Amino acid sequence: MERVFAYVIVGGGVAAGYAALEFTKRGVSHAQLCIISEEPVAPYERPTLSKKFLHPESPARLPSFHTCVGANEELLTPTWYEEHASGETIRYETLIIATGAKALKLEEFGVKGSEAENVCYLRDLADADRLVNVMQSCTGGNAVVIGGGYIAMECAASLVTNKINVTMVFPEAHCMPRLFTPKIASYYEDYYQSKGVKFIRGTILSSFEFDSNGKVTAVNLRDGSQIPVDMVVVGIGIRPNTSLFEGQLTMEKGGIKVNGKLQTSNDSVYAVGDVAVFPVDLCGRIRRLEHVDSARKTAKHVAAVIMEPDKTGEFEYLPLFYSKAFSFSWRFYGDNAGEVVHFGDYLGTKFGAYWINNGHLVGSFLEGGTEDEFEAIANAAQLKPAVDDLAEVGRQGLNFAMTG
Ligand code: FAD
Ligand code: NAD
Repeated sequence: MERVFAYVIVGGGVAAGYAALEFTKRGVSHAQLCIISEEPVAPYERPTLSKKFLHPESPARLPSFHTCVGANEELLTPTWYEEHASGETIRYETLIIATGAKALKLEEFGVKGSEAENVCYLRDLADADRLVNVMQSCTGGNAVVIGGGYIAMECAASLVTNKINVTMVFPEAHCMPRLFTPKIASYYEDYYQSKGVKFIRGTILSSFEFDSNGKVTAVNLRDGSQIPVDMVVVGIGIRPNTSLFEGQLTMEKGGIKVNGKLQTSNDSVYAVGDVAVFPVDLCGRIRRLEHVDSARKTAKHVAAVIMEPDKTGEFEYLPLFYSKAFSFSWRFYGDNAGEVVHFGDYLGTKFGAYWINNGHLVGSFLEGGTEDEFEAIANAAQLKPAVDDLAEVGRQGLNFAMTG
């Protein structure tokens, strides 16, 4: 049966959940809105999968982390969707693309073995269920974590908490190379090492050894070494899910290019979340962000643009990245461009950094802050105060943001 909806969202992840809530708040009825989702469950807060979902005790399970609980909004359970949204669709008046991204596979780097039963990726609930099962069968055993980014750092911490010995392997000189400076990275690496995590930097995996059942028994590294394993976790980045739209919409930086109204090169099609490349005025360039805050906020904004086009301006955004692992909790606001000034106690629990570009503070990082302190560093990155004496800013440290 052909059905027509005023608003169709392709993709059923974080952005879809937040957009659905915003549309219904603005009076859109169930007959007007449809979400087409590849996943068999209603949208959920994906960040939970590498954190509370992996806790050995009282782990989070659905329905407790459906969207939009992460922003202290209503919990959109399957029942909510039955009441507010509907099933199949073929035609739309306005389409919102929220297809997110998929995990890069080792095969793309010439390594075979992703399908082995003890090799885990982590992008969706099915992956997380699998990871929990494999982890539970490996207590006391050895895991190799491939990658030094977000997934690797958060999963390594969870594996340790689940009593598994961890070796991390990544090609760069330190962890979190897209954001961390060597000094920041070394703080976290030291802590992970104190928890027993081993780091093998500057090399990558070249192949797996398998037993007769196809289970991975060891990883071979390009530097010639071999590490025996009971399980492997792979976190080597993502690729946005754009293939449905190739040749139909303008693409850039690997994603779907949108303007400040989140509108693609086709007037009736919008894109939000990990898949969208949008202008970030504060950074002076277009960016594709792979973080939950931008998924939530682009989703909210697109509903406003569509429902109240005359009253809604361009999307103005201060990038926010955060992570939690062990008892750590950090946030980064703004842009990590230019020179870096570190501040605070890098032997203690509260420290940070400012990024200064062309004489202005453009980015700020803080570990272990209070809500007020995080708010202050966010304001600093938003206001971009002039800085002519980097050493003085370093001396003032957090006070520079708190009193600025
Ligand atoms: P997604 O949430 O990935 O949703 C996309 C949805 O579209 C999926 O349900 C997918 O199945 C579906 N889909 C894809 N193609 C199609 C299709 N053709 N038809 C129908 N459906 C389709 N960010 C942070 O800032 N902080 C964190 O702590 C954090 N933790 C994370 C932990 C994990 C384990 C992961 C994987 C990500 C984490 N992120 C975190 C990133 C954050 O979750 C993403 O930025 C966010 O989910 C992006 O939202 P999205 O809606 O664009 O994409
Ligand atoms: P990432 O981009 O954070 O890290 C990828 C890492 O893979 C790189 O740092 C590099 O060390 C490594 N790498 C690249 N090629 C490799 C190779 N051939 N062999 C070994 N290592 C290689 O990506 P991720 O950690 O996979 O995370 C996936 C997505 O999930 C990202 O979009 C990320 O933003 C998101 N995520 C975010 C959070 C958070 O914001 N707290 C938490 C989890 C996941």
